[in-house]
Amino acid sequence: MKIEKYKIDRKCNARMRDYDPSDKAGLKRKEVENELMPKNLARMAELQGALYAENRRGIVVVLQAMDAAGKDGLIKHVFTALNPQGTQVTPFKQPTEEELDHDYLWRVVQALPRRGNIGIFNRSHYEDVLVTRVHNLLAVQQIPQNLVDDHIWERRFEEIRNFEAYLHHNGFRVVKFFLHMSKDEQKKRLLSRIDREDKNWKFTESDVSEREYWGEYQKAYEDLLSNTSTENAPWYVIPANHKWFSRYLVSEIFVRVLEDMDPKYPELPEEEKSHLAHWRSVLEQDD
Ligand code: ATP
Ligand code: MG
Repeated sequence: MKIEKYKIDRKCNARMRDYDPSDKAGLKRKEVENELMPKNLARMAELQGALYAENRRGIVVVLQAMDAAGKDGLIKHVFTALNPQGTQVTPFKQPTEEELDHDYLWRVVQALPRRGNIGIFNRSHYEDVLVTRVHNLLAVQQIPQNLVDDHIWERRFEEIRNFEAYLHHNGFRVVKFFLHMSKDEQKKRLLSRIDREDKNWKFTESDVSEREYWGEYQKAYEDLLSNTSTENAPWYVIPANHKWFSRYLVSEIFVRVLEDMDPKYPELPEEEKSHLAHWRSVLEQDD
């Protein structure tokens, strides 16, 4: 399938209305769930094995979305394909006091994966140009107020671009997914959090109050997609009204990223290879 259509890899003028949250790329759910998805999950596991063994590079997956767009389910259904040894999921919640005592990238830097590993960010540094912007949180944070001016978001976009370029230049790929869901679909999902007892635990009042800021959030997303998409750290806008499709599309993109990285199992140096026969005979004589 064509994934380019969902990718933003340069400065642009992203508009939400140009992306259809109900898109399914003409695919059928059954075929995707029974055939295409299992194939991708197996391929992800295989390539991750080589990435881990190679121990040179890593991947940072950034997941951003409005509430109830399906980040948690996506992690559960797609990234469980990966070996837990070599994968870390980090949720970024409201910053703690300690986190607020630092610059906004501090907590993100601490969550970066090691070489050979894959770090999955459930929310990320992008919250600092989203919720922080929509709710004007800088006014109540410890950042010196003389540094908060009209250009702060532009500067943050630049800082984030530089940070992600830095990661790329150090062998860490950054892949960013925005799960794009419609406001109607969100309403349905929040209602089911209320109606279904097994989903009640997921419901928070803030899910409803945040909905009032839907328009502001969409604008903030448009601005960040327009300004932080780069060739080396592109954003993908994932249609998310159909969960099965968003999960499949993410798996498809992730497989392509891994294939493009083409990780290889390290080969034993010739000298060590020549000793293998010796170690075989040692083991065979052992009882
Ligand atoms: P779900 O989709 O299941 O509700 P979630 O990711 O929304 O999962 P929550 O614990 O409900 O998890 O929410 C985390 C909250 O933390 C979000 O409202 C988010 O905006 C907020 N948050 C994350 N980073 C920051 C930040 N830097 N400043 C302020 N709030 C933040
Ligand atoms: Mg929430």
